[in-house]
Amino acid sequence: MTSASADVLIVGGGLVGLTLATLLRQQGDSGEYNVAVVEPRPPEPPGATLGLRVSALSPASQDILENCHVWQNLPATRLGPYVAMRVWRGGGPDGSQSIRFDAAEQGLPALGHIVENELLRWELWQRAEALGVELLTAAELVSAQRDERRVLLEFDDGRTAEARLVVGADGARSRVREAFGLSVRRRGYGQQGVVTHVASSRSHQETAWQRFLSDGPVALLPLADGRSSVVWSCPDQRATALLSSSGDDFGHELTRVTQRVLGDLSVTVKPRAFPLVAAHAPHYCDERVVLVGDAAHQVHPLAGQGVNLGLLDAAELASRLIDQQSLRYADPGDKRLLRGYERARKPENLLTLTTMDLFHRVFDTGNPLLSSAGGAGLAVADRLPAVKRRLAAQALGGGSRV
Ligand SMILES: Cc1cc2nc3c(=O)[nH]c(=O)nc-3n(C[C@H](O)[C@H](O)[C@H](O)COP(=O)(O)OP(=O)(O)OC[C@H]3O[C@@H](n4cnc5c(N)ncnc54)[C@H](O)[C@@H]3O)c2cc1C
Repeated sequence: MTSASADVLIVGGGLVGLTLATLLRQQGDSGEYNVAVVEPRPPEPPGATLGLRVSALSPASQDILENCHVWQNLPATRLGPYVAMRVWRGGGPDGSQSIRFDAAEQGLPALGHIVENELLRWELWQRAEALGVELLTAAELVSAQRDERRVLLEFDDGRTAEARLVVGADGARSRVREAFGLSVRRRGYGQQGVVTHVASSRSHQETAWQRFLSDGPVALLPLADGRSSVVWSCPDQRATALLSSSGDDFGHELTRVTQRVLGDLSVTVKPRAFPLVAAHAPHYCDERVVLVGDAAHQVHPLAGQGVNLGLLDAAELASRLIDQQSLRYADPGDKRLLRGYERARKPENLLTLTTMDLFHRVFDTGNPLLSSAGGAGLAVADRLPAVKRRLAAQALGGGSRV
């Protein structure tokens, strides 16, 4: 039975938790924190073909991962850059209800990259290990107690750990959030995100395509191997029907609803579905505990922002903790520090959540008046540089390189 002791103990070795661990150990001077990560499901080495779960990562996320010295290790053959984004409602991507974003317009080489979640998690894991992060595997948090100076955690395999700060990076169903009595407001969209990869008869042109259907958006994201990743957000019933349809029928239906923008589409990977939820924790911190990523907020994937927001949380918290280290009696569990992090991150997370909610209400509720007004709104925004810049900034993850 091993007992661990750390300054900062991160529960959850997903993309956000591992990024935070790596950033905290990145400094390389003598004042480093001891960092441990608890993760019941360590990443597997990447397979020969692209994994099913991918994320559209913004330039801001790329910066953070470059700071971790992880982005540089991702093979170029598995990074799918996208240089344009085309969004439309009716009439096709060039029609009267459409908007277009170009990397060149933003002065960037790419608007972002499509990256496999497990490949990235694998690289982060290797990097964290090399930096001396203690990785506790096969353990799930079951209980937590705290006093003035530290937190004591107990795991399902009988191991225990103590830390000065516990970070809940354990995703939407955060056990840390629950164990420390932090509340969350959650609302299901009544939709599932159906994901698969497709081959297409026309090139994806390194462009992310998204059409707002009357019951949810469908996106085709360009993969490095020429295929596209599909994220089709649709009502539960339609998702069930899609999952039980044959590959051919799925492909035909997808070709039809995307108005043949990439020609004929054929499914190359068995589709899977994920329930779509909006959630936000009113408080991201309490005595010696703090939440990051999906444990603090969950957004609709229509603008692909969940990981991007989570990595910005990790960067903000890491930079505050590292600053704190220079103080004489540095305490990573200092409440003012944790509150400062919460104040810094909440507005952007809430703004994204509210914007995604608004898009969902306008386009996905089946109200034809609202959704054609939304379609017209896209065209108007396309012609208003200030509005377009604001939308692009949000899609680029804070709009600036960090
Ligand atoms: C269909 C779909 C498409 C998406 N596309 C995008 C996209 O294009 N771009 C984007 O930015 N975001 C996207 N997202 C959102 C993104 O996937 C999430 O926001 C992101 O994965 C959250 O990362 P996380 O590290 O906070 O949580 P998670 O990825 O959920 O990781 C949590 C980790 O904690 C571990 N854990 C859980 N419970 C415990 C416990 N009790 N003890 C210890 N460890 C525990 C888990 O094993 C896991 O490794 C999408 C989401 C969906 C559903």
